Amino acid sequence: METDPGFIAALEEAKTGAAEGGVPIGAALVSKDGKILGRGHNMRVQKGSATLHAEMSALENSGRLPASAYEGATMYTTLSPCDMCTGACILYKVKRVVIGENKNFMGGEEYLLNRGKEVVVLDNEECKQLMEKFIKEKPELWNEDIAV
Ligand SMILES: [Zn+2]
Repeated sequence: METDPGFIAALEEAKTGAAEGGVPIGAALVSKDGKILGRGHNMRVQKGSATLHAEMSALENSGRLPASAYEGATMYTTLSPCDMCTGACILYKVKRVVIGENKNFMGGEEYLLNRGKEVVVLDNEECKQLMEKFIKEKPELWNEDIAV
């Protein structure tokens, strides 16, 4: 069991997304001193959004912050981040990206590492199960997403 509050928040968000009938991916942005700046989940289905992936939702819900707020921050996400979210983490100079799992989708981890980010993959069973269930039950939703 993970006890990291940032990861727990991201996982809760993923479950909220699942309960809403959306893509079950959650994220949380945590400052260097451990404060949750913002959290959110994928809103593509709920809002008909092209950009509100979990990480983008967490950034959006954090509001407009000064650059200093992102220094040393960690982005927690339940699934390996896509190119857009990888780019957003780099843009906002997030220091570390903690990923629930990368079995159902492998995103821009290599790029994050190349840009000097710390990448931690938890290989979390709950994250994997949430995605596996979603992909199995709603393949059309997943296939229209960024994964394929
Ligand atoms: Zn994304």
